[in-house]
Amino acid sequence: MSSEKQTVLVTGGAGYIGSHAVLALKESGYNVVILDNLVYGHRDIVENVLKVELIVGDTTDRELLDRLFAERDICAVMHFAAYIAVGESVAEPGKYYQNNVHGTLTLLEAMIAADIKRFVFSSTCAIYGVPKEIPLIETHPKTPLSPYASSKLMVEQILADFDIAYGLKSSIFRYFNASGAHPNAQLGEDHSPETHLIPLVLQAAMGRRDNIAIFGTDYDTPDGTCIRDYIHVCDLASAHVLGLEYLINGGETEAFNLGNGNGFSVREAIEVAKRVTNCEIAVVEKERRPGDATVLLGSAEKAKKLLGWNPKYPELSDIIAHAWQWHQVRHGDA
Ligand code: UDP
Repeated sequence: MSSEKQTVLVTGGAGYIGSHAVLALKESGYNVVILDNLVYGHRDIVENVLKVELIVGDTTDRELLDRLFAERDICAVMHFAAYIAVGESVAEPGKYYQNNVHGTLTLLEAMIAADIKRFVFSSTCAIYGVPKEIPLIETHPKTPLSPYASSKLMVEQILADFDIAYGLKSSIFRYFNASGAHPNAQLGEDHSPETHLIPLVLQAAMGRRDNIAIFGTDYDTPDGTCIRDYIHVCDLASAHVLGLEYLINGGETEAFNLGNGNGFSVREAIEVAKRVTNCEIAVVEKERRPGDATVLLGSAEKAKKLLGWNPKYPELSDIIAHAWQWHQVRHGDA
């Protein structure tokens, strides 16, 4: 990186993963501008913790994007702004294609018009569908099971085409189960409604909910519950900075899995949470949740080799401990 500070536009920077990426970018010496419509993002986090410029608006607003790019010297865009609820995407697919695909396409066209040709994209392991082989590698067939996953795969296709047509270069990150919080306890996961296992388990530990439901106990796994690969949000953030620097140094468009390659069943994750929090957590066993794959586990060898990525917090106990600190600070009134 040159000594001059470069400016990165981060869409969705007021959200969970985006906010951690903003902090990592700042710590690496970048200026950051956030574009976020604040539908799910948190203004207080931007103002009190991140302390960077916030533009409130949508990625579908081409006029806003043209103005934003004309007025600033942006070297790259990191794109987190998206809807992420799998179940909702099945019920309301148009909302997902409109925001996740049309919004991204509008952003990319504005970038090309402004001659900005570096893009870091937040994708998902959900694009693989039901795994044929574990661990999943980047070349595994893509058979998305929901409009959410399809919307992410469509953007990956658009990025390949924009590279061929315009020379736009992308680092694409396919996350496994993003979790944890910044160890400073000032940033973390605060979705509403919350659907993810670890925050829900911690809500149960805090007494903010009566119990945690296990969705399905008859899977073909040692304890009958689904197995996932949990990855610390700060490790995702550091990968994004590396992906950006790889593009600044002339890297080609590539997609990378980001996971630890360690599988934990739902029951195991709850047990780790009990140990970390030292709280009783009541469990109820429920039916399977539609669309859940039995095992999702990724190999991140490509990111390690090509980007030099090295996860700092691979232990699930650390991931949950950091999330627990954050939950206590954010919701400590319980
Ligand atoms: N899960 C669960 N109870 C919950 C939420 C999630 O048993 O209240 C299970 C879910 O079925 C999946 C795993 O926990 O097997 C991780 O789910 P999550 O929604 O956190 O992430 P996903 O793997 O769907 O991206």
